[in-house]
Amino acid sequence: MAVLDIVKAGAPVLKEIAAPIEKIDGELKRLLDNMAETMYAADGIGLAAPQVGKSIRAVVIDIGDGILELINPRIIFKEGAVVDSEGCLSCPNLYGEVERAETVKIVYRDRRNKQKHLTAKGLLARCIQHEIDHLDGVLFIDIAQSIRLEEAKKG
Ligand SMILES: [Zn+2]
Repeated sequence: MAVLDIVKAGAPVLKEIAAPIEKIDGELKRLLDNMAETMYAADGIGLAAPQVGKSIRAVVIDIGDGILELINPRIIFKEGAVVDSEGCLSCPNLYGEVERAETVKIVYRDRRNKQKHLTAKGLLARCIQHEIDHLDGVLFIDIAQSIRLEEAKKG
């Protein structure tokens, strides 16, 4: 596995609509492995493929419960609204208050090409919405109610 370079805000790839993944092959599985390695190395809880320069619809998440790999994730239901603080590995030292749905239901494929459903609340729901936004060219700083600079913290 390898730690990849994380693309920073301002790069065009972060503003693109990422392409759906049609084939789950060895190359994609290697990318997912490397994305996880990169996320852990950066102390992050989520990373989307555009953040490593690949404009395709793949996401890795680990909020402390183990790795979750989402291929072509799609939100099929959302409910409630919560404002909370967010950061992003592509926006170092920036934090902001972002309104997200409290609960989301998603459909996605796993690396075995099985279709899966997941209902998420709380931090996982927030993280899923943040990462899916990356696939649609949206950064949290684009939609945050307020943004602040914090030098020491990681997120
Ligand atoms: Zn992000």
